[in-house]
Amino acid sequence: MQACPAEVREILQAAACGAELTFEQGLLLATAEGSTLEALVAAADQLRQQTVGDAITYVVNRNINFTNVCFVGCSFCGFGRGPAAADAYSLSFEEVVRRAREAWDRGATEVCVQGGLPRDLDGFFYRDLLRAIKHAVPEMHVHAFSPMEIDYGVTKTGMPLRDYLEMMKDEGLGSIPGTAAEILDDRVRKELSPNKLPVERWVEIITAAHELGIPTTSTMMYGHVEEPADWVRHMLLLRAIQQRSGGFTEFVPLGFIHEKTRLYRHGGARPGAKRDEHLRVHALARLLLHGAIKNLQVSWVKLGFETSLACLQAGANDFSGTLMEESISKAAGATFGEYVSPEEFRARIRSIGRVPAERTTTYKIRRIFDQPEQDPRTAAAQLPLLQAESHVTYTEGAY
Ligand code: SF4
Repeated sequence: MQACPAEVREILQAAACGAELTFEQGLLLATAEGSTLEALVAAADQLRQQTVGDAITYVVNRNINFTNVCFVGCSFCGFGRGPAAADAYSLSFEEVVRRAREAWDRGATEVCVQGGLPRDLDGFFYRDLLRAIKHAVPEMHVHAFSPMEIDYGVTKTGMPLRDYLEMMKDEGLGSIPGTAAEILDDRVRKELSPNKLPVERWVEIITAAHELGIPTTSTMMYGHVEEPADWVRHMLLLRAIQQRSGGFTEFVPLGFIHEKTRLYRHGGARPGAKRDEHLRVHALARLLLHGAIKNLQVSWVKLGFETSLACLQAGANDFSGTLMEESISKAAGATFGEYVSPEEFRARIRSIGRVPAERTTTYKIRRIFDQPEQDPRTAAAQLPLLQAESHVTYTEGAY
């Protein structure tokens, strides 16, 4: 701390006392390097300790990306395909339900369900898919449908937003992923995806969900064409939403995976963030969101384990989910695998001297693993990896 400029030292001290940092203060931290970055990381780690203690939480879940057919054409996406592409797929309801049931049998408490946006999607597809999962596995928490998908469902059905969300809640929607946020700035969004919903609509959907008692996560994609000022504005917007609604369960910084994306090849984007930038973003989030969003998640699929563990010592406190399969980051070139067992999560958490704890989607602690010798061997560890390969087209009215 002594080695960093007095101005930064004052900001870090103010943050440690619970002050709400301003845009200018955030911007100064967002460009920290060398010993200043080290001081930022240490301050964020300390604030994490004061706020949520030493547990590192994780959820046993399964990702189900039910189709990769999508017309939106985001330039950062390596996942979406045209309907005629050789590797385009759409899972049947039966297959989605089978995966959800299998996940439940192996100890998962959540399925995270998202997909591309096919042009010919039935208006009530999302409701029917949700209904099918909840009918088969009533206790499963269904964390599903990004604001972009909610917006699409609203457009397709012609229903008012609140009515649509109420219908989904009545059908058992547990929470909504706060994806499709990317960078919440319309200038940047035009470069990333001119067809994606504008900032105002993202905020409207998220706020309406919160007001109706549907929690959401919050995310930010970084490491492409954005600048540090965009991170700060984005985080401050999330902080302001949370201060009004209280509906965000966590904030998840998502490092851009560049390899197989148009944005990197032709759009002048940086090739994702390097280690220091990952640390800077996570530590900054801990300080800027302090007092509003207390859970800060690392995305191991995008960061890999080494960097994830470093970020868990730079303000983060959640390791995300076991996933069991994940198609979206892999399609963009991520190489960090599809599944990690709860045993491996616990071992990695203990390797940095912290305490593993399994949580629900909404951060209720299911079990704290403070005695390694009492760890169970969960069935989830034996779940075979599945490829998204047995695809059948969605049939309208199947449910
Ligand atoms: S990010 Fe989502 S909406 Fe955009 S192209 Fe990919 S699948 Fe479609």
